Amino acid sequence: MKIDILTIFPDFFRGPLDYGIVRRARETGLVEIGIHDLRAFTKDRHRTVDDRPFGGGEGMVLKPEPIFECWESLGDVASREARLSASATQSVILLSAQGRRLDQALAARLSALDRIVLICGRYEGVDERISEHLADREVSIGDYVLSGGEMAAAVVIEAITRLLPGALGNEASARQESFTAQGDVKKVEGADSTCGSGGLLDYPHYTRPAEFGGMNVPEVLLSGNHEEIRRWRHQRALEKTLCNRPDLLEGAQLSDEDNKLIAAIRKRSAAQSESPV
Ligand code: SAH
Repeated sequence: MKIDILTIFPDFFRGPLDYGIVRRARETGLVEIGIHDLRAFTKDRHRTVDDRPFGGGEGMVLKPEPIFECWESLGDVASREARLSASATQSVILLSAQGRRLDQALAARLSALDRIVLICGRYEGVDERISEHLADREVSIGDYVLSGGEMAAAVVIEAITRLLPGALGNEASARQESFTAQGDVKKVEGADSTCGSGGLLDYPHYTRPAEFGGMNVPEVLLSGNHEEIRRWRHQRALEKTLCNRPDLLEGAQLSDEDNKLIAAIRKRSAAQSESPV
């Protein structure tokens, strides 16, 4: 996969893309990341990338010309029509608080593309013509406002890269993580023998030592009974999802057994909240 980042702060990316899985994926050529300084595509002495908003109002807006020129210099990006078609293999993404919210399903879809261009906004935002005529989608990383798209671009890259086949070293890992619904990730033989997330949050993880400062690892995980471990993990994933992200249960694949468990958990927590302090 080839990823290009268009930014007024190219140095920002020293660091975020140099660790762990993204670093390894870059080193092994699984992903190639180009970082482009928008100021290099300005023509005036002051290398101006922003200007005041038409119609008045606060702040500055990123000008369209440097972004279009930088994009043109990439040379081989597909037309917007091709990128919007059902058989698209590329995407030009404007990072924006007004965009579609990034989730694991979108990350999985983007990870299947060959080519991604990420445009990082700053100030009050980017001249809307970028969204109307150049980008084929706007992506937000959450319902809050950042000062720039750089952090968001790093998040998108991290979420996508770890889904590229071969990036994790262990294909099974991506399949059983939080949010991962069947179908989001290419089916891997035997991967769900322990616990497929099925759209739930991940189950809790523990490692050595089994006892530390009086805190013990749950007995069942030391039992060697794989069926019981699987059941325990699934139950804990359900509990955590119910407690922290009940909205995810609507889209999750739940068995009759799960629904019974959820009813039991709800009953238990209702009883706890009623019990006198
Ligand atoms: N006026 C805009 C915010 C601009 S913040 C608004 O109210 O929506 C400046 C830049 O930061 C944006 O152009 C975008 O590139 C980036 N940004 C801010 N919040 C973001 C978010 N939640 N997700 C992705 N990018 C974001």
